[in-house]
Formats: sequence, structure tokens, C-alpha cells
Amino acid sequence: LFISFEGIDGSGKSTQARLLAEALQAAGHEVVLTREPGGSAGAEEIRALVLQGDPDRWSAETELLLFTAARRDHLERTIRPAIAAGKVVICDRFADSTRMYQGLSRGDLRGKVDTLHNLMIGQEPDLTLLIDMDPEKALGRAKARQTAEERFEDFGLGLQQKMRAGFLALAEEFASRFRVIDGARAPEDVAVDVLATVQAHLA
Ligand code: C5P
Repeated sequence: LFISFEGIDGSGKSTQARLLAEALQAAGHEVVLTREPGGSAGAEEIRALVLQGDPDRWSAETELLLFTAARRDHLERTIRPAIAAGKVVICDRFADSTRMYQGLSRGDLRGKVDTLHNLMIGQEPDLTLLIDMDPEKALGRAKARQTAEERFEDFGLGLQQKMRAGFLALAEEFASRFRVIDGARAPEDVAVDVLATVQAHLA
């Protein structure tokens, strides 16, 4: 089983991914909790590269290639072996983040994103949990834990609003695997919803 979490920065998806991993482990599942960009040694090196420094030192297309390279490594080295071993893979962001961030934030690259995805990735999660919330609240959270190391959190409200709308549109486009969870609640309450949604999928 392959589950991804998606959402704008500060939506709480990383916390929810961790809580779900703990709950499924407690229920006896073998769980691999991973994240993007990153999730394998090589992909973590690409993460360090793309999340630091001046984002304009390469074009939007080059950035798309780097994120796709990281995903390919992550898929080969971490995700596919875990799925093949019967484990539950929980991934904090996956290809839907690229459809949004590389596909939308620096112009309309969605066509190229899809072509590269089909060529090099070709894998979708079984279930994608979109932790949806108002960007103004999310931005407050993201800023509170902002590290100098990572540039992407600096997106600003306008772009975050565009991203939220884009994620909700993706949830309609891929309705069979997406579930939208209201993230504007206490993390424990969101986690109850997340677990119930996963259990419904497993049943
Ligand atoms: O999920 P996390 O906050 O760790 O992601 C790090 C940053 O990378 C985020 O701020 C996100 O905006 C950015 N990102 C991106 N494109 C992706 C995945 C993440 O721009 N495909």
C-alpha cells in the first residue's frame, strides 16, 4: 500500500504522516515513512541542492528535471522495494507536489510535468490524503518553523492561495485516489480522520 500526503506549506501534513505511521505500526503493519524531495540517499543530495541557494540560478524546466531525478531515485531505491516487501509506504509529498509546484508556481509547465512523469515515474499512490487548510493559517505555522536552510517556505500568501486551489482541483482530477481532509483543526482530530480514511480504504 502506497499512501501520499499533500498540501501547502504549513498544512500539517508532515505531522499527520508521522502520526499515521505510528498508528499503523501500533496496529502491526510494517511501515516505511518517507518524504520528498528526498527519501533515498541520492534524492536527499538533490534535496539539499534544490532547497538551498538562489532558486533562479536555473530555469523552471531544469528545476523540474532535478525534482524528477530525485523522485526516480526515491522510487527505485526506497518506494518500490518497500511495496514489493509488502510494507505500507507513507510519503510526505509525491508527484502531485510536482504537478503543483514545478507545474504551476513558475509558469504553466503541467504538460512537461505529465510527459516526464509518464516517461520516468509512472507510479501513483493508492491513496492521497490532501490536508487542506486556509493559507493564512498555514503560513503562520510554516513561518514559525522556518529554517534559513530552506528557501521554498517563502512563497507568500498569493501563491499559497493559488497552490491550495490547485491541490483542490487535483483532488477532483484524481478523485478515485484523493481524499480531502480538513486540516484546520487540532492535529489529534485531523489524525482521527486520517486513520479512519485509511482504514476505510483497507476494508
Ligand atoms: O514538504 P516540505 O515542506 O518539506 O517541502 C520543502 C519545500 O519544498 C516546500 O516548501 C515546498 O514548497 C517545496 N517543494 C517544491 N516542489 C516539490 C516539493 C516540495 O517546491 N515537488
